[in-house]
Amino acid sequence: MSHSNGLSEDKFTELLTQVTEFRDREIAPYVIDWEKTRTFPANAIASAHELGLLGMEISPELGGLGMSFGQKLKVLDVLSEVSMPYAFSLVNSHNVAARLARHGTEDQKDRFLPDLLSGNKLGSTALTEPDAGSDFSSISTQATREQDGWRLNGEKAWITNAARSTVIVAYAQTEPGARARGIASFLIDGTQEGFERVAPYDLIGSHAIGTGGFRLNDYFTSHADLLAPAGEGFSAALATINEARTYVASMCCAMVEASLRTSVDYASKRESFGRPIIEHQGLSWQLARVANQLEAARALTAKAIMVIEKEDSEAAILPAAHAKKFATEFVEPALTACAQAMGANGLKEESLLGHRLTAARVANYVDGSTEIMTDRIAKTLRNTYA
Ligand SMILES: Cc1cc2nc3c(=O)[nH]c(=O)nc-3n(C[C@H](O)[C@H](O)[C@H](O)COP(=O)(O)OP(=O)(O)OC[C@H]3O[C@@H](n4cnc5c(N)ncnc54)[C@H](O)[C@@H]3O)c2cc1C
Repeated sequence: MSHSNGLSEDKFTELLTQVTEFRDREIAPYVIDWEKTRTFPANAIASAHELGLLGMEISPELGGLGMSFGQKLKVLDVLSEVSMPYAFSLVNSHNVAARLARHGTEDQKDRFLPDLLSGNKLGSTALTEPDAGSDFSSISTQATREQDGWRLNGEKAWITNAARSTVIVAYAQTEPGARARGIASFLIDGTQEGFERVAPYDLIGSHAIGTGGFRLNDYFTSHADLLAPAGEGFSAALATINEARTYVASMCCAMVEASLRTSVDYASKRESFGRPIIEHQGLSWQLARVANQLEAARALTAKAIMVIEKEDSEAAILPAAHAKKFATEFVEPALTACAQAMGANGLKEESLLGHRLTAARVANYVDGSTEIMTDRIAKTLRNTYA
């Protein structure tokens, strides 16, 4: 995938200020309510189009902002400080638009790009099924070739934005038993016959991701909406996965940084035994450990961003796996340490620590679980160190 050099520093600084104001006005006041009412805030996600955020990496000629990958991650960080689920939903819809902008036909761009950029429609990418997650090549959604196109049958599960999305990049098996070799991808229109939405899941949190599923019941798609033919679907799915792993790592860092700020501020004001609690070594060392690991996670993420921006997707596999593994393993203990420093007050919903903890759980699964990251690194050990 080709990456833009991005906005000028001045323009980007101005945009980040606007994103922060937008976040504090349109997201922060509602985050707790969304969780309590198990709401998928489709309208709030759509309203990000006011700043062009649904087209962050898309070129200006096609109606996007033309940001670089690193700039996109900075925007996602600002949003994740308040709600990583919101940022995750937004970027997932953005990614479908970006894919169509780069690789779609003129007809697909005409049909879907304006609505995706305006938030009128939301996008999803659907690999996972009820019986196939980490082992993506074992998907069983079946694509059967017909004269004018393809007939699709099967069920997708755990799909971001599936609560409302109607522009979906879905992966299906064209030859049972062929595993990766038979996987193709299709552009699915969720308003067409044969598309049946499954109710979103009741989760412990992160409802703003709008995670749900859908069934394809004899869904027909023309040849024109075959995105990647059999043999190319599997690698097409992996082509952008390093980017996703890197932004998930970055979002974890943003959640920890925001929590650390709240905790340090609290521990500097709250007193016990005649002094601010941050002056008790037993406590300040716990937060120092969080700060230390945050620096390491940021450095690993920065390395992955650098390699991705050099357009070397093969070389990005390992840095992205290192960044995501480290970030997802440190984020939960780090958030817990921040909560511990706030005593019982850390339990209050308004601290957002509970909201961030469930988002941290989510980070451990999406775009390749922590174990799959470890396995990626393990597979390169002999090449790297022998
Ligand atoms: C909020 C949310 C949003 C999501 N959004 C999307 C989306 O938009 N699109 C999409 O396609 N999917 C999405 N997913 C699904 C996600 O990609 C899967 O959860 C992930 O691939 C893991 O699959 P699984 O949950 O089925 O776990 P499984 O694959 O069943 O694994 C269960 C456990 O076993 C471990 N495990 C599996 N294989 C190995 C191995 N070889 N070695 C060691 N351990 C192993 C896993 O790490 C995990 O801990 C989403 C998930 C969540 C929670």
